[in-house]
Amino acid sequence: MLKKERYQHFVDYFSKHQPDAVTELHYTNPFQLLVAVILSAQCTDKRINQVTPALFTKFPTPELLAASDADEVFGYIRSVSYPNNKAKHLVGMAKMLVTDFGSQVPSDVNDLQKLPGVGRKTANVIASVVYDMPAIAVDTHVFRVSNRIGLTTKATTPLAVEKQLVKYLPQETLAIAHHWLILHGRYTCLARSPKCEVCPLTWFCKYYEITHTEAYLQKAEAAVKRKADLAKKKKKLDAIGKELKKRAV
Ligand code: SF4
Repeated sequence: MLKKERYQHFVDYFSKHQPDAVTELHYTNPFQLLVAVILSAQCTDKRINQVTPALFTKFPTPELLAASDADEVFGYIRSVSYPNNKAKHLVGMAKMLVTDFGSQVPSDVNDLQKLPGVGRKTANVIASVVYDMPAIAVDTHVFRVSNRIGLTTKATTPLAVEKQLVKYLPQETLAIAHHWLILHGRYTCLARSPKCEVCPLTWFCKYYEITHTEAYLQKAEAAVKRKADLAKKKKKLDAIGKELKKRAV
């Protein structure tokens, strides 16, 4: 199947079945989304949604968060991963929002990345979700699922995956495709054992094609046979070696 066709099937399927996919993080404004996304690095959305209500109530604006300190913020986020660093980042981010960006969350990806705790992935989430810009954030799910389905080839870094997705996906689907890939990775195409048996994408998934077809089985069989042949040859050579040693004595 051509890569272009895979993209077409991917977009067709999800446009029909998940036309309204959105982030599972809870937020009501760009500032809250920025805080939630910074917190969500290497943590689950479920956990973040447990801590943000109290955090947002205590610090509803960049100004109030900027006036706080890492120790105080830590108390609200202690149950998320890396709470020390994230507390420092949140206060630093809020300070910079106030001093450099008029307390507004910037829309430019480069400006966003100047904020403490904000890398390319977080910047792309904000740009696409808040400002509807043609950007796609690549997290671990997006990275894995894109590669498995075959939307990307030989893409070994998040940036390489991002570039290929941006190149082939229709621009208007970039923002939502991020959610399609995340949700599919979170609930079906799991990292350790993808649930291929219940996955509706098998008919155009490259990973499935490789691991479930006659050709794959034949390849696997051939590999087993090769291994057995090599073992046989080794045994034969060992026996000859032993024989030669005996004769030498
Ligand atoms: S068929 Fe399997 S590997 Fe492919 S997308 Fe579905 S779950 Fe993932």
